Amino acid sequence: MNCPCCSGKTYENCCKPYHLGKDLPQTPEQLMRSRYTAFALVLTNYLVETTHSSTQKFNDFSDIEDWAKSNKWLKLEIVFAKDNKVRFRAFYQDKNNEIYEHDELSTFAQENGKWFYVDGEFY
Ligand SMILES: [Zn+2]
Repeated sequence: MNCPCCSGKTYENCCKPYHLGKDLPQTPEQLMRSRYTAFALVLTNYLVETTHSSTQKFNDFSDIEDWAKSNKWLKLEIVFAKDNKVRFRAFYQDKNNEIYEHDELSTFAQENGKWFYVDGEFY
């Protein structure tokens, strides 16, 4: 299948190795993409594990899972990626078939060679 993150690559050659822990995202953009795909595939553990310890306590497992499950994840657009920031737009459809755009500037942090999602500003 095509990777849900809209990279144009197959899932196997894109986000899957990160989800399986066989490879580590080398950039915040790669992590961002793999987290979007994790929402689309409801890989809640991956979302929790890639959230930075400083903000993980604000992210409840079942809330994330409900959020991932209750929407259909349509499309991801990376607006720009610079240093530890990624601006993206994610398009999703809720249960009532309404389409929404989530526009976020995310901040990432690297620890022991591993990138983590810290938090985001919403537009
Ligand atoms: Zn991907």
